[in-house]
Amino acid sequence: MSATLVGSVMLGGCLGNPPDTAGGGGDKTAPSAATDKGLETKTISLGFIPILEAAPLVVAVEKGFFAKHGLDVNLTKQASWPSARDNVVLGSAGGGIDGGQWQMPMPQMISEGAITDGKKVPMVVLAMLMSQGNGIAAANAVKDGNLSVDLKKTSPGFFDSFAQKTGNKFKASYTFPKANQEIWIRYWLAAGGVDPDKQVELLTVPATETLQGMKNGTMQAFSTGDPWPSRIVKDKVGYLAATTAQLWKVHPEEYLAVRADWVDKHPKAAVALLKGVIEAQQWLDKAENKAEAAKILSSRKWYNIPVPVLEQSLKGEYLMGAAGKPETDPAMGPLYWASDRGVISYPYKSLTLWFLLESMRWKFYPGVIDSVEQAKAINDRTVRDDLWLQAAKELGLPAADIPTGSSRGKETFFDGVVYDPENPQAYLDSLKIKK
Ligand code: CA
Repeated sequence: MSATLVGSVMLGGCLGNPPDTAGGGGDKTAPSAATDKGLETKTISLGFIPILEAAPLVVAVEKGFFAKHGLDVNLTKQASWPSARDNVVLGSAGGGIDGGQWQMPMPQMISEGAITDGKKVPMVVLAMLMSQGNGIAAANAVKDGNLSVDLKKTSPGFFDSFAQKTGNKFKASYTFPKANQEIWIRYWLAAGGVDPDKQVELLTVPATETLQGMKNGTMQAFSTGDPWPSRIVKDKVGYLAATTAQLWKVHPEEYLAVRADWVDKHPKAAVALLKGVIEAQQWLDKAENKAEAAKILSSRKWYNIPVPVLEQSLKGEYLMGAAGKPETDPAMGPLYWASDRGVISYPYKSLTLWFLLESMRWKFYPGVIDSVEQAKAINDRTVRDDLWLQAAKELGLPAADIPTGSSRGKETFFDGVVYDPENPQAYLDSLKIKK
């Protein structure tokens, strides 16, 4: 292991790592028996964060799906999202990683140099790893707010009265700014008529501090990936206000992306990588494999989280709202392969574009994404759906599992807002609260 990886692991800030464990990241997988498939290389170094989005990568290593397609994947736990970003800038040649799991639009913003101090490292988005499986947890101290997916219904005036009562704005956090987790909490608040830039305070905080903050009242909500929402409820720190599946059914979540120089040099290996991920996603989506998946992920080497917490999350079993109402619906939990909107894994450009549009909405990256044209150009430069289609063809997937276009069509959110990828500007114009 490189000094850099050790260093970033030791620095902590561990998103997703249980707060009661010290780091424990950077595990290297045992060399697997990769078969000779005539690939340009047999090895690749990928990073992961121990949340359910990374499950296809872990499962592909553990169940031999990568090895089957000739790849020996060195999958290393990243201490935090900033560590993952810094490690991919280094690349495996520099002791870092070639790619891995990302919140969006991290790979595109690394490509543009927008989150890497201007250093542009072109990256390629290859597949969606998981849909849904994220949520917004609220502290027990704000149970009286009765926060739910539809704030207009359950919590009118709550955020302003909280500020009046306590003298402080309601604080909500996530572990990396200007990406999925912040985008979800902003969407939720704005749909509820709450201006996230005016009526609440949004903060980037390491997971460990967030949980402590929710316990001692310095913070009231946390936007995060499974199994954290379940863990927070189980540990009686807070309650699950909303799942992201409630906000937008079968929404895009985190993606597999790799440095473009690696893909350009190893196109066959990139397709092999996708074949392993696709087969792992198919395996993970089967109900009969959930228990085994929870067992695999739970090990110290990977997530170091108790099996029951992972199993509940994988099966879509949640205790919802301030009342902790049990709700079990696998269709509302993490999805890896199949859904009523078609294949999860395929990197629909209409879905990756949405994160760039939300970035425009909130003025996350001024000078980089200021217009729909810029957003589309970045999206087209970075999403390689052709490689996914090649992998699907080589795997002999049935036609029903192979998308025929780069748009999934119109998308509808819980508040009735419609995103038509054919007219992104109309979507942006329809949003009442924006920066
Ligand atoms: Ca996530």
